[in-house]
Amino acid sequence: ADEYRDPAHARAELARIARLAATLGATRDKPISIMEICGGHTHTIFRHGLDRLIDQGIEFVHGPGCPVCVLPQARIDECIEIASRPGVVLATFGDAMRVPGTKGSLLVAKAKGADVRIVYSPLDALALARKMPEREVVFFALGFETTMPATALTLLQAEREGIKNFSLFCNHITVPQPLRVLLQDPMMQIHGFVGPGHVSMVIGLEPYEFIAEQFRRPLVVAGFEPVDLLQSVAMVLTQLVEGRAEIENQYARVVRKAGNPQALAAIDAVFEPRASFEWRGLGEIEWSGMKIRGRYAAFDAEQKFGVGYGGTRAATAPELADCRCGEVVKGAMKPPDCPLFGTVCRPETPVGALMVSSEGSCAAYWQYAGRR
Ligand code: SF4
Repeated sequence: ADEYRDPAHARAELARIARLAATLGATRDKPISIMEICGGHTHTIFRHGLDRLIDQGIEFVHGPGCPVCVLPQARIDECIEIASRPGVVLATFGDAMRVPGTKGSLLVAKAKGADVRIVYSPLDALALARKMPEREVVFFALGFETTMPATALTLLQAEREGIKNFSLFCNHITVPQPLRVLLQDPMMQIHGFVGPGHVSMVIGLEPYEFIAEQFRRPLVVAGFEPVDLLQSVAMVLTQLVEGRAEIENQYARVVRKAGNPQALAAIDAVFEPRASFEWRGLGEIEWSGMKIRGRYAAFDAEQKFGVGYGGTRAATAPELADCRCGEVVKGAMKPPDCPLFGTVCRPETPVGALMVSSEGSCAAYWQYAGRR
């Protein structure tokens, strides 16, 4: 990927962006707003100082693209409820450990005696189930379309092996539906989008078509190196200058128009859309989450334990006073505008989920931009 970090290449793209921004009359006070949807892009933007494009009238608005950050407190509470049941081993990715629910985090639950273990893949969780047949191993399945295929294939593997003590607490969510909600909000002033590279590798380009067709906004799927992002911004600006609204692919070295058929088939075999799923800051969004298909109910922790959408839901919790996670997730506010940013809310003592995950915009801002 060296060519996508090449300074000369980056300078050429910066000059192109400056020309296009000037053509559009963009200024620091009247910027062109481009939402990057993916938390990985947010990280690249701050790590490489691309947020300074604001000097040329290009403002990045950070979207709801970190799956840990958009989990509502109720889902963490439900996960802790399952983890606290006798005989349960809760297996989770590390970045979910410190996300606060209303009764603390999984880390706090572990300190109180719950058997919570960090794994690096769903297959690691399945290996735990094989090793401990007397325990019920529950995998905290999280993430957008990128991580769904691995979860689906793990469940199918568990079924093939006849493993009965393994289940998923399913929190998989999809990217397109929250974008529709954001675009329907008359307060949102977004001129174009930089689309997520990894998600698009799985789903392809077609699911974004409504953004161009119904809402007349350009979207360019982007890679994760600095030149990828600069090229993508230039492509969005070019569309705006030419009066076009199309779905384009800057990340063609990885993303195919039709996505990954094998990955999509695995997702479809195991999951189906939920009628509604709650997002932090965005509320309930129709058809935005996935659930395990009925034929695999034996692997569905919500049904096994009667918790969550399959049983008793944890109460929806109001955000803490002064917490602005909801506004930041929607792109309506920048992290430093939250009164808790850098005071009580820091990576060591996160108040909100956006400060926990390295892909959260508050954590990225704190790590790279907040202390410049
Ligand atoms: Fe949420 Fe903390 Fe960011 Fe404020 S600073 S929006 S509380 S994560």
